[in-house]
Amino acid sequence: MQFLMAANWKMHKNRAEAAGFIRDLAVRLKDAPEDREVAVFAPYTCLAACAEAGEKAPRIRLGGQNCWKEDHGAFTGEISPAMLHDCGCSLVLTGHSERRAILGESSELVGEKTTFALACGLDVILCVGETLEQRELGALEAVLDRQLEAGLADVPSDFRPERLSVAYEPVWAIGTGKVAGPEEIVEAHCLVRARLVCRFGQKAEKMRILYGGSVKPENAAQIISLDNVNGLLIGGASLQVESFARIITA
Ligand code: PEP
Repeated sequence: MQFLMAANWKMHKNRAEAAGFIRDLAVRLKDAPEDREVAVFAPYTCLAACAEAGEKAPRIRLGGQNCWKEDHGAFTGEISPAMLHDCGCSLVLTGHSERRAILGESSELVGEKTTFALACGLDVILCVGETLEQRELGALEAVLDRQLEAGLADVPSDFRPERLSVAYEPVWAIGTGKVAGPEEIVEAHCLVRARLVCRFGQKAEKMRILYGGSVKPENAAQIISLDNVNGLLIGGASLQVESFARIITA
């Protein structure tokens, strides 16, 4: 199984910056280990520029940070999986904690988006994770169960398991500089794996579980060596090509 190393740029970079990053990254990836798959989740406005800059770098996959659950229609401000595909994307994030917390996305809506994006041919990284308050109340397992149950409710079982990944991102570790400790990561990833196996059977062993939350070049190697960690989702440290490249090759 290849590790999936994914950059989430959030609302950062213009077209020229994004294209320059992709060109630089393509050069730096020439010596990267073969077992690293690389994805960049860029703002919608940069996707076409990234696709053009990465034309000769098939190793860099492009993704959207969100999508809607319909193909087209009166959904002002939204974007469909087909539109993402048209801009060169093969992946999409669903359920990022910023969308859940700031934009009020429910786990049910996240589930509808996940099912629709997979049906439209995009691979999905479904993001889950608990807040500090939930962790302190001892609700980690209940929160992950709930987000995974709703997030995967209508996902059929007949797709290639490599197409669906789950990113465990404790909300208290995102953009805060606080990284979950090795035992916390292993515990949460083990819970996610168990839930995936319950839902999909043995094929769940081929689904990747990514960790996200203040990953840096300095801590990436230790985190990806942990049980059931099959990749990383990186926000802040993915904005500079040098630090993202160091994480990829960690
Ligand atoms: C994220 O936004 O998914 C994330 C993990 O951010 P950061 O790496 O900045 O904590």
